[in-house]
Amino acid sequence: MKGSLTIVGLGPGAAELVTPAVTDALKHSTDIVGYSKYIDRVRHARGKSFHPSDNREEIDRAELSINLALRGKKVVVVSSGDPGVFAMASAIFEVVDKRSISKEDLPIVVLPGITALLAASARLGAPIGHDFCVINLSDNLKSWDIIKSRVIAAAKADFVIAFYNPRSKSRENQLAEIYNILRENCNSDRLVIYANSVSTKSEAIFETTLSKADASLVSMKTLVIIGSSSTKKIRNTGYIYTPRYSGLEKN
Ligand code: SAH
Repeated sequence: MKGSLTIVGLGPGAAELVTPAVTDALKHSTDIVGYSKYIDRVRHARGKSFHPSDNREEIDRAELSINLALRGKKVVVVSSGDPGVFAMASAIFEVVDKRSISKEDLPIVVLPGITALLAASARLGAPIGHDFCVINLSDNLKSWDIIKSRVIAAAKADFVIAFYNPRSKSRENQLAEIYNILRENCNSDRLVIYANSVSTKSEAIFETTLSKADASLVSMKTLVIIGSSSTKKIRNTGYIYTPRYSGLEKN
């Protein structure tokens, strides 16, 4: 039997935000591979072999998935949110590239999921209605200098900026440094939003400004959004949006 490899995103947390295509792929799988916390979200599926692993073992997990699929298994690799956003899809293609695995030997399908930024944005209103950029603040796989230079460039370009992986136990003080860099490079009345565990039972969303933003309130479960100079809050309703126009008069 020919195996297959499907890389899927489980969305931000809520069951109803898992796409029907992902549900279908899980249903037809024999083996499910992923970080143990994400595997827990699909453990109710019957008759599957589960392969949970630690968060940092992405390349080992990619090798395992590919080897299982080459042995004829129908493998689904699960990520949270979207599998292409700071998640497993890149790790798998890295291994496919290194091992020169052909499409004939192993067809690969990537099924999108709702990434944390889209889920958070929908809760708030329309904060990414104009140009935005996304930066992963983890320095596990890139240098802290690269991160800082990208933050400065994004601030100078007046993007709305979303920070994934903003803070962890091993990186407790870096976000405060990022806030100082932002304060030097853009106006400190910019809106700052902390979107925690969006679409789960512990969802909590807070909003402040760059001048008051306290990095110690942020965790691994937070997505941080920094508004651009035109991002605003509608008084009375509290919706936050970024207008679609910039540098032009509204008509
Ligand atoms: N592939 C995932 C991102 C993985 S990186 C996606 O597309 O969403 C992990 C980071 O994503 C976390 O540190 C946090 O910043 C963000 N994140 C993931 N799920 C989230 C959620 N439900 N609410 C808020 N942020 C979330």
